[in-house]
Amino acid sequence: MSGRVYDADIYVFGTTPETYWTATAAEGPDDAAPRLETDLSVDVAVIGGGYAGLSAAHQLASRHGRRVAVLEAGAGIGWGASGLNAGFVSMGGSKLSTAEMVRRVGEEETRRYWATQARAVEDVRAFIADHAPDCDPVGDGNLCVAHHRSVAPVLAEEAETLSQRFGVAAEFIGADRFRREMHDGPETHGALRLKPGFAMHPLRLVRALSRAAKANGAQVFSATPVVTWIREGRHHRLETDMGACVRAERVIVAANGYMPNGLHRSVAFRSLPAISSIIVTQAYGAEELERRGFRTTTPIYNSRGLLSYYRRLPDGRILFGGRGDTQGTSVARAKKAAETLKCLTHTLPAFADAEIAFAWRGLVSLTARRSLAVGLDPDDASVAFAFGCHGSGTATMPWAGRLAADLAVGAARETDVPTLFRGLPPRLPPSNILLRWGLRAAYGVYALRDALHM
Ligand SMILES: Cc1cc2nc3c(=O)[nH]c(=O)nc-3n(C[C@H](O)[C@H](O)[C@H](O)COP(=O)(O)OP(=O)(O)OC[C@H]3O[C@@H](n4cnc5c(N)ncnc54)[C@H](O)[C@@H]3O)c2cc1C
Repeated sequence: MSGRVYDADIYVFGTTPETYWTATAAEGPDDAAPRLETDLSVDVAVIGGGYAGLSAAHQLASRHGRRVAVLEAGAGIGWGASGLNAGFVSMGGSKLSTAEMVRRVGEEETRRYWATQARAVEDVRAFIADHAPDCDPVGDGNLCVAHHRSVAPVLAEEAETLSQRFGVAAEFIGADRFRREMHDGPETHGALRLKPGFAMHPLRLVRALSRAAKANGAQVFSATPVVTWIREGRHHRLETDMGACVRAERVIVAANGYMPNGLHRSVAFRSLPAISSIIVTQAYGAEELERRGFRTTTPIYNSRGLLSYYRRLPDGRILFGGRGDTQGTSVARAKKAAETLKCLTHTLPAFADAEIAFAWRGLVSLTARRSLAVGLDPDDASVAFAFGCHGSGTATMPWAGRLAADLAVGAARETDVPTLFRGLPPRLPPSNILLRWGLRAAYGVYALRDALHM
């Protein structure tokens, strides 16, 4: 697959990454997805076996009665970000502030954005209750903690705006209450709690989505990278690395941060993958956690431009993550894990003895307009896509996958996509080197703004 932005170490599709999630979720017989060995003809082919692709397949098979095949490059289902993330379930899909959304799409569309995302969170909650209770849902909302006292009034105002103007269940929690109920630390100046939200085991969720899709007749393949895509009259011909081909009337591109720029002209250089890195510590006993004052299982991120995210896992470990390296090499990965540990002990000084038990990283997808893209290729309505959720996709991408599926078969119109997410984002410079340098420059600006508390 050509057109990759980072070092090959990020794209070792043949190996399952070792993570806390793989260590705590044994693969059952129903989770296996074979490699595609022989040619296949389907109504819809889906490229990518993460939340978006599997939800699309589930929708196509269960609601629309289509013959559908999911083609996943990685060694197993959820090989990409869907099996690697931190498990925060939150309203996502955009890096824009509410004020920026209103400026871009107006009050009504901003309200629509929040409504769709609140529903997306509740859809995941319901799916877990019905199909995957072993996802261990925990926590009450998502907390954005003010890392500096100057941010607290901004978050308090945001809570007011969201609840009064946009109907989002949101509250501001003062610094004292935060320290008493959540945890203490030098960067705890109160928090915005967005109520629709919780935390869960992400790999179990993606596997449950795969099982549900298969139970409805979808075929799900792993270790099956699409390397060539050819239009043949009314059909698409997708060639995989071992030679087997899929012939399909329609294709859904659901490859998000792992999408090679050479895959299809419509999505080439429409998004920028960025690395996000996670560490997980040793386990602390319940009394120990209480003594050290980390009392919540609600997932937390801070208000920095280059934000950190962290949560207490059900077995007493701490998961801590943030921006990853910008190279993708194994050396950069190890260096970033050590930096992330420093960040953890700064944020949670009561855990100065924390050690790294697990460390891994994965790719999120950014777009020039700083929001998700869902739609149909304007030059070929038989190609649908969903990508670019800016590192917040556990609820957004299952929803976006279903919407892309509805668009692909004509069960939804493009106006059914909130304006903020509709259609293709502007193209980025068509050079992987430029993309990497651009990202480094953006990180530099964010770091400066964080240092100046802007
Ligand atoms: C470290 C990390 C932490 C995160 N934490 C959170 C969080 O706590 N909460 C949250 O909401 N979001 C989080 N995210 C983001 C979230 O995980 C993603 O938004 C979401 O999983 C994207 O789902 P997806 O199905 O679109 O893409 P993915 O899960 O990335 O799936 C895309 C798949 O496409 C496959 N693919 C690519 N090219 C091809 C090809 N040519 N042929 C076949 N298959 C191909 C890839 O192998 C990959 O598995 C995090 C992401 C990372 C990396």
